[in-house]
Amino acid sequence: MFKNKRNLIERLDSGPVICAEGFLFEIEKRGYMSSGEFVPMVSLDHPEVLENLHKEFQHAGSDIVQAFTYNGHREKMRVIGKEELLEPLNRTALKIAKKVSENPIGKESNLMAGNISNSNIWKQDDKESQLEVERMFNEMIGWAVDEGADMLIGETFYYAEEAYKALQVMRKTGLPSVITIAPMGENIMRDGVSIIDTCKELEQQGGEVVGMNCHRGPATMMPYLREIRKELKCHIAGLPINYRTTNQNPTFFNLLDNNGCTCATPHKTTFPTALDPMQCNRYEIGNFAKEAFGIGVNYLGVCCGANPMLIREVAEAVGLKVPASKYRENMKNHYMFGTNKRIPKHIKEYQDKA
Ligand SMILES: [Zn+2]
Repeated sequence: MFKNKRNLIERLDSGPVICAEGFLFEIEKRGYMSSGEFVPMVSLDHPEVLENLHKEFQHAGSDIVQAFTYNGHREKMRVIGKEELLEPLNRTALKIAKKVSENPIGKESNLMAGNISNSNIWKQDDKESQLEVERMFNEMIGWAVDEGADMLIGETFYYAEEAYKALQVMRKTGLPSVITIAPMGENIMRDGVSIIDTCKELEQQGGEVVGMNCHRGPATMMPYLREIRKELKCHIAGLPINYRTTNQNPTFFNLLDNNGCTCATPHKTTFPTALDPMQCNRYEIGNFAKEAFGIGVNYLGVCCGANPMLIREVAEAVGLKVPASKYRENMKNHYMFGTNKRIPKHIKEYQDKA
């Protein structure tokens, strides 16, 4: 065991901290989750798959092993008629994350994070729904503490009041907490509070790490991160999705296919099953991380669309060398585009026609 394991805030005080999110999309892509329904049954059905993804993110530089309990809340389990699996799902996901966090590749142990998120039943001015959400937060945070979480993450909130409630519940544990919001395409929280005011209030209420995650790609998240950084004194978090969102469509929910694709998706939107052509490339994600870190955002990662390669890109963009850096790109040895002197001239000369 690691005697002097630094907590989240100590790490943020001394440099960047990387957190891989986006488990939902990545597990779905790997064939272990139903798209649309999006319930993380993987911890119960295929624990080895989840453990391995954690390890891959760890190898790519994630300092935090975030338990995959996103959407693993009571309401979602009711929707799919499996409420009895709620606690086993949560505890198993937490145990897997804990195991990986305690077996780091580098010198320092990773931090295991318990996770709560948008409930999708929160309703403005509706005490009953709000109490139900609070109960859901309380039970999940209770299990996270039980299973030895080093920190907590509340994420993807698009109601300001729901984010405040999540922070309140997390703060009661005394563990370092991250709270990130994910405003929808109207660029305002669903309950009418501005993005900046929501973040200011979260800091006022004791938020130590406040910021944004999900729904928005680098292009439509960065302008807000700049403002948040200016207005807040606490640590700031930025974890965009890996898609080219635009001012016209600031989130991935209504993102149009701009790649000339003519095959219709069976849904009204490209979300969530036909977003592939609008992905950012690794350099866009690297530039985002570099720019964000440059303005003082030091809790960084990628949400939906994340994969280990992109997490390595984020880590390297802020000057870190991670285990996966061993396998970073090395084009000089490519058989046609490389510069290695062994590459035959007639192959190199064929580049433009390839
Ligand atoms: Zn996401």
